Amino acid sequence: MSDLTRMTATEIAALVAGGEASAVEVTQAHLDRIAAVDDRVHAFLHVDTDGALAAARALDERRAAGEELGPLAGVPVAVKDVLATRGVPTTVGSKILEGWRPPYDATIVQRLREAGTVMLGKTNMDEFAMGSSTEYSAYGPTHNPWDLSRIPGGSGGGSAAALAAYEAPLAIGSDTGGSIRQPGAVTGTVGAKPTYGGTSRYGLVAFSSSLDTPGPCARTVLDAALLHQVIGGHDPRDSTSIPQPVPDVVAAAKLGATGDLTGVRLGIVSEFVGEGAEPGVMTAFRESVDALAKLGAEIVEVSCPTFAYALPAYYLIAPSECSSNLARFDGVRFGLRVGDDGNRSLEEVMSLTRETGFGPEVKRRIMLGTYALSSGYYDAYYGQAQKVRTLITRDFTAAFEQVDALISPTTPSVAFPMGARTADPYQMYLADLFTIPTNLYGGPGISVPCGLSEGLPVGLQVMAPTMADDRMYRVAAALESAVGTFTPPAL
Ligand code: GLN
Repeated sequence: MSDLTRMTATEIAALVAGGEASAVEVTQAHLDRIAAVDDRVHAFLHVDTDGALAAARALDERRAAGEELGPLAGVPVAVKDVLATRGVPTTVGSKILEGWRPPYDATIVQRLREAGTVMLGKTNMDEFAMGSSTEYSAYGPTHNPWDLSRIPGGSGGGSAAALAAYEAPLAIGSDTGGSIRQPGAVTGTVGAKPTYGGTSRYGLVAFSSSLDTPGPCARTVLDAALLHQVIGGHDPRDSTSIPQPVPDVVAAAKLGATGDLTGVRLGIVSEFVGEGAEPGVMTAFRESVDALAKLGAEIVEVSCPTFAYALPAYYLIAPSECSSNLARFDGVRFGLRVGDDGNRSLEEVMSLTRETGFGPEVKRRIMLGTYALSSGYYDAYYGQAQKVRTLITRDFTAAFEQVDALISPTTPSVAFPMGARTADPYQMYLADLFTIPTNLYGGPGISVPCGLSEGLPVGLQVMAPTMADDRMYRVAAALESAVGTFTPPAL
C-alpha cells in the first residue's frame, strides 16, 4: 500500500471504512513517522502511543462488529496542548502546568473520540498561546518542515508542523488572534478559525475568552471541513456557544471543489494590500486573485479603515483578559508549586510559583493587562480598545453588505528565520496584522495555501460573516482546486 502518512484524512477514512487498512495500521504508520522525524521538527510535546493504539484497536473492533462509522473514523489527529485531555499531560506550553493530567476531556476532545478519530498526542505551542512562532514554548521551539531553520508560525506551530511533516493528517488548533491561520499560512497547510462560539471552549485553557476559538487544521480544505463538522456545534457547557447547528461546511467545500464561483462577490481588503506585506507574498496573492476571477468570482476592493487599529486594540483586550484568566495559576489548585516549605506564607508561595512557572512573554502580557485594567487607566486603554472593537465590527458588517466574503494575504511575510523576532515583541506581534480583525469581530476566517515565495508557502485568507463559515470553505476549496496543494521538501 502506498504511504499512509501521505494520504488525506478523506482517503484514510475511506480505506478504513472499506476494510483496506485497519485503524491500527494507520496509527502505527503515523507513530513511526513521528519517531523518524520529530526529533528534528519537535511538533509534539507528548506522544500518546499506548492511548492511540488502544483507540485504534477499539475502532477496528467497532468496524468488525458492523457498527456505522463516522466520516473520520480511524483517522489520526494531533491536538494542540491547549485542550484538556483526560489522563494525558496538558501543559499549554508552560512550566506552570508541567505534569498536569486533567481529570476530564475538553468537549472537542470528547467529540473527536466519539467520532472514532485517534488522538496521537499533544502538539507544541507558544506558552498560553501567546506568540506567533512557537519559540515562546517553555519546552523548546518547533521547526518548520519546509526549512528547519525557520519558524512554523504560532501559537499553534506544533499542529501545523505535524501536518506539513506528515506526522498527522489532521490537527486541532486554537485561534485568538491568528494562531490557526498564521501557522497554516507559513507551513503550506489549511487552518480555519470558526465563528466565535461555533466551537466549544469547554476544556480549552483560557487566554482571552472573548477571542479564543478552537478550530481545525488539515492539508486540504475538505479535510478541514470534515474536522470542523465533527468538533463544531452547540455545547451547553460553554455559555458563549451558539445554539445553532454548524453551517454545512462539508457540502460547501465540495461545492467549491467544482471550481465554479459564478455569482460570488469577493472583496479585497484595501488596507491589507498596501505596503504591509512582502512583495513575494503580494505576488502570490495577486496571482490567486486572478485565479479566483477565472473561476467566476467578481472581485472588488473594499475599504475597512478601522482595521488599521485592530492590532493595538487586540494588544489591550487580549492581555487584559489574560491578566484575569491567568490569576487561577496560583500554585494551589493545579500544576507547579514552588517554595511550599512550611515556612513561607501563601502569598510568597504564590508569587514564587508564578515567578518560576510563567515565561517572559506571559509575564509581559499579564503586566500589560493589569495596567490597562487598573483604575485611572481603564477608560483610556481597555475602554478605548473596546470602542475600536465595535468600530471594526461595523466595518465588517458594512463590507458584507457589499461582498460575500473578504480576502487578503493571511500573513505579511513568509516563515521568518528562528530568532529573528524574539528580541522585538512588536515585530512578533505584526505577524498577525491581517488575522486579528476577524477575532475582534467574531467571524470565521480560513487560510489556504495559494503559492510560494522564495520557495516558502504563502497563505490566502478568506473571511466571512458570523455563522457563514460555509462561504469561506467554498471559496477556499475553489482556490485549492485551481492552485493545488504544496509539498515541502523531503525531511
Ligand atoms: N500571535 C497572537 C498573540 O500572540 C495570537 C495568538 C493566538 O491566536 N493564540 O497573541
